[in-house]
Amino acid sequence: MTLSGIGYDVHRLVEGRALILGGVEIPYTHGLEGHSDADVLAHAIADAVLGAIGERDIGFHFPNTDQSIRGISSLEILRKVASLVSEKGGRVLNVDSSLIAEAPKISPHVAAMRANIAKALRLDPKRVGVKATTNERMGFLGRGEGISAMAVASVEVPE
Ligand SMILES: [Zn+2]
Repeated sequence: MTLSGIGYDVHRLVEGRALILGGVEIPYTHGLEGHSDADVLAHAIADAVLGAIGERDIGFHFPNTDQSIRGISSLEILRKVASLVSEKGGRVLNVDSSLIAEAPKISPHVAAMRANIAKALRLDPKRVGVKATTNERMGFLGRGEGISAMAVASVEVPE
């Protein structure tokens, strides 16, 4: 049967950190704060896939108290989530996602993000949606205080 899940994440933008989105380092004055590389897009997608297979969230599986994951690429988290799906005899059918960022421009990097996420989840890149919008300069996202992401995933699992 086919199951679906949703994911949402947000990280604060700070100085002195690299900005990693979908495994792509994007040149910018600020980067996202977090325990891993703070790849908000990968985290939202990981939560969507975990939700689809009835697992608990990314914070449960990859707690920020775990020193072994400090600074790791969140693509590695996605690979581990894909392995959890395989262990249950399932496979990810597709994921779709939206980034909400006032800046920088996301569109030049979308193809590379899709390729990275697809590889980590063992998917065809055309089954990975990455879309981007701004928050129309409203609220904390609109002031550029952070970047958020939301995602959905569909997973085929045995009955
Ligand atoms: Zn996160």
